[in-house]
Amino acid sequence: MKIEHCVVGPLQVNCYIVYDDESREAMVIDPGNNADEILDIILGLRLQPRYIVCTHGHFDHIGAVSAVKKKTGAAVVLHREDLPIYEGAQDLAALWGFSMEKQPAPDILVAEGDNLSIGENTVTIMHTPGHSPGSLCLRHNNLLLSGDTIFAGSIGRTDFPGGSLEAMKQSFRRIIDLPAETKLFPGHGPLSTVADEREINFFIHEL
Ligand SMILES: [Zn+2]
Ligand SMILES: [Zn+2]
Repeated sequence: MKIEHCVVGPLQVNCYIVYDDESREAMVIDPGNNADEILDIILGLRLQPRYIVCTHGHFDHIGAVSAVKKKTGAAVVLHREDLPIYEGAQDLAALWGFSMEKQPAPDILVAEGDNLSIGENTVTIMHTPGHSPGSLCLRHNNLLLSGDTIFAGSIGRTDFPGGSLEAMKQSFRRIIDLPAETKLFPGHGPLSTVADEREINFFIHEL
C-alpha cells in the first residue's frame, strides 16, 4: 500500500491518497479543499478511488467531498457518531468565517473494527472519540492515519461540540499502545511514529 499526500485549505489539512500499487484502487482521506489538486494526483497515478473517508465531520476535512465524489463515484465513509457534526459542518464553517457547499450524505457509516479494502489490502477502522464523538483512525499493518486525534507532539482540541477530554485520554492511550514502529499520518502537520510520540507528546503527562 502506498500513500500520497497534499495539504489543502486555509486550515492546512493533510489529505492522504492511499492506494494499492497492483489494482490501482484507492481511498481518499479527508478531502477538505482543493478538489482539483486531489483529482490531479488521482489522475496522474491512474487511480480508481473506491472510498472517500472522512476521519471526522469538521468542515476543514470534508469541503471537497462533493467534487471528488462527483468525479470518481467513490463511496463516502464516516463514523456513525459524527453524522450530526458532518451534517452541521456548514454552520461551524460559517462560525469560523468560511463558506462551504453542502456535502453529499455518507454512503457508508462505519464503527470500530469495520474493514475497508483496496485491492488486497485491508484497512481497519479504529473509533477514537475525543476531538469529536465519531473521530476515527485508519490502520493497516504499521500505518495509522490518525485524523485530528493525535498530531506530532500534540492532540486535537476537545472543546468543540461533542468533544471530550476523557474520551481523548482513552483514544490517545490506545494509539501510543500500538507497536512502537507504527507510522502516524496526522490530519495536520508533520508525520510521526508511535515511538516518537511516547517521547515528545505533551499529552502523555495528562493521562
Ligand atoms: Zn477537526
Ligand atoms: Zn482538522
